[in-house]
Amino acid sequence: MYEETTIAAIATPPGEGGVAIVRISGPEAEKIAARIFARVGKADERLQSHRLYHGQIRDPRSARILDDVLLTVMRRPRSYTGEDVVEIHCHGGAFLARRILELVLSEGARQAAPGEFTKRAFLNGRMDLAQAEAVLDLIRARTEKSAALALDQAGGGLSQRVGELREALLDILVHVEAAIDFPEEEIEFLPRRELIGKIRDLNKTIDDISATYDWARLFREGARVTLCGRPNVGKSSLLNALLGENRAIVTPIAGTTRDVIEETLNLDGVPVVLADTAGLRETENPIETLGIDFTRRHLETSDAVIVVLDGSEPLSRDDEALLRSLPNKKFLVAINKSDLPQFIDTQSLAAVHCARRISISARTGHGIAELKKVLRDLLIDREIEAPAVVTNLRHRAALRRSSDSLAKAAAALDENFAPEFVAIDLNEAREALEEITGTIRSDDILERIFANFCIGK
Ligand code: GDP
Repeated sequence: MYEETTIAAIATPPGEGGVAIVRISGPEAEKIAARIFARVGKADERLQSHRLYHGQIRDPRSARILDDVLLTVMRRPRSYTGEDVVEIHCHGGAFLARRILELVLSEGARQAAPGEFTKRAFLNGRMDLAQAEAVLDLIRARTEKSAALALDQAGGGLSQRVGELREALLDILVHVEAAIDFPEEEIEFLPRRELIGKIRDLNKTIDDISATYDWARLFREGARVTLCGRPNVGKSSLLNALLGENRAIVTPIAGTTRDVIEETLNLDGVPVVLADTAGLRETENPIETLGIDFTRRHLETSDAVIVVLDGSEPLSRDDEALLRSLPNKKFLVAINKSDLPQFIDTQSLAAVHCARRISISARTGHGIAELKKVLRDLLIDREIEAPAVVTNLRHRAALRRSSDSLAKAAAALDENFAPEFVAIDLNEAREALEEITGTIRSDDILERIFANFCIGK
């Protein structure tokens, strides 16, 4: 299946910490451990699986002691990779873990490639492909909700749902194949109409699941939200109010926020990357112009925009121009400085745009909680009730291919095509589903997936 070498890597992140873990997996793992590990005050009896032992790591050539460690052996198949695994918990710090890893490598292990432990777990049937990919999402999760989605997938949630879809598809295929084998019976094992209905139902379920990708992506990658408005309306102050900390520089001189400042906010489970941009207005100043170009590019790639206006002043031409330039974006209007007497004409504002408006004060905090709520609703406009959630682009692409093939199968049945043709489409739909869990796989897809992992996972 794959070359059964023994691989090793540091499984913990680089830098200083309480402990670092060197992980070894493969047929030689235990032998290597036996050569370099000595239990404190105990003879060399065989270590039991899944127990933690206290001892020392010693270089067998120089007899030098490298560290006091805890070591565990997890014998196959009850280990992460499905192979014999040894983990050495040494003292944290870049140097020690590296020294121990070098020792393990000099004893015959090979440095693991990124994601190689998880790849072996997949190849040994410890998890399917969708689960293996979820491990990566879990590592990268930034909020509780994104971690929960990843955990469900890692636990086999998505795989199970995809398995059920596949079963439903096989049920349909059986009828079509029967019509191929017994042509004199036509497709009347199940009336053609009923079969078309079943295919369309399945197609709809698959489409519902693929539609979850767009909002699930927000949980996974974070939503990009840009604050914009002319200088001095209070964008930096609002950014600080949303984050609850003093991050951006606030000054009363117009045009000082020239860089885009990005911060992550946890909006009730949705990670939001907030970008405070240079004020948008016509300008002659070249540095400011640079910042403004950058702002426009930012606006194009954001999931939502908060337009900030200064409520203590009448609506200006710049404000109106900005509001008009954003017709296709999801956006909301924050009318800031509600603590000051209000001079903004909300009537004429309504005439310019019908977006949701909220009165706030970045200074006193008035309206900030409401703004957060409205922003969240704007981003996640519906929590779709689908039987499963897809967060991975590869999975969505496969679901779409499956759905397209099902649509073709239904059309072919509708037009009285021979069952052989219908079966081709149905089989393509089945294969697309199987790619998600990796029942059908191609080596270059595997390469691409596991290359995204960190070394040691
Ligand atoms: P930016 O240029 O849009 O980022 O605006 P700043 O956040 O730098 O704010 C410009 C000025 O407006 C500063 O003097 C702030 O203290 C002031 N300011 C911001 N928000 C409010 C508010 O809600 N009320 C009042 N009274 N002043 C504010």
